[in-house]
Amino acid sequence: MTLKPKLYGLIGFPVRHSLSACMHNAAFSALKIKAKYKLFELKPGQLKGFLNSLKQKNIRGFNVTYPYKEEVLPYLSTKTPSVKEIGAANTVVVDNAGRLKGFNTDYLGFTQHLKELKVKPERVAIIGAGGAAKAVCFALAKMKVRELCIYDIDKFKSLSLFKRLNSDFEQTRFGVATRIEDLAIGEKDLLINATPVGMHQHDPCLVSEAGLHQGLFVYDLIYSPAETKLITLAKKHGLRCSNGLGMLLYQGVFAFQHFTGKKAPVKIMQAAIEKGVKKL
Ligand code: NAP
Repeated sequence: MTLKPKLYGLIGFPVRHSLSACMHNAAFSALKIKAKYKLFELKPGQLKGFLNSLKQKNIRGFNVTYPYKEEVLPYLSTKTPSVKEIGAANTVVVDNAGRLKGFNTDYLGFTQHLKELKVKPERVAIIGAGGAAKAVCFALAKMKVRELCIYDIDKFKSLSLFKRLNSDFEQTRFGVATRIEDLAIGEKDLLINATPVGMHQHDPCLVSEAGLHQGLFVYDLIYSPAETKLITLAKKHGLRCSNGLGMLLYQGVFAFQHFTGKKAPVKIMQAAIEKGVKKL
């Protein structure tokens, strides 16, 4: 009997435009690992059925994106501390007995990218309090930033993220802004966009020029388009800035290491997503 090849993948809805498959498949082929990474678009209600099919399809691990990062939690046999603290998993490893172990490599990806950019923030403003923001705020709290102020259009989300962080991390002063203007960007050294606003051509720029100042680094989690209106504005003012492609890369690098137990070929994965993003 021939064994089915090991399968990995990404679950989410939608996942059509994801760069994860090109990044992981490039890494598998560079390390001559006989495995394939596929995109699994799961419509609402299809998560349980997918999880029941893991053994039959020989799926040995998968990444999780919107909207399943929280929904997958009850199915995990083991949750790493970061998954428990963030309340979301984006990487799941399936062991030989079919048990699921969840990791959060989004927060590690963001941390690693900031390190690469040599950004050492102290006072941070973040727009968005959804899934990605949770991981980013956790990373910033772990870095022991002095201040972190959160704004989301949905006040319930910003407040619940604030409460959670405030009870878990003593060394950071957390705040919630009820309007973008209240983020006091003029006093911050890092501004993060963790909303989807900027992905579409007609999207507004959420930030006005008023608070932009030379000491500010602007980080937009969006990577497609490579340059959002926010990044264009930052560049116009001569500010250091970055899109989220590096975070995407490094969350994939850490996930790959969990999947295979091998050191990820970072440069090859980077080249694959840089090529892939141009085609989006
Ligand atoms: P999400 O869970 O939907 O969170 C986005 C949050 O932003 C929601 O709470 C949303 O509120 C809020 N929001 C929407 N419009 C807003 C506005 N005008 N002002 C303030 N808040 C607003 O999405 P996500 O998964 O966190 O993803 C957010 C972005 O990050 C996406 O563009 C995604 O592609 C990107 N991302 C990048 C990476 C990376 O590796 N670079 C990783 C993950 C995500 P409502 O729900 O009320 O609309």
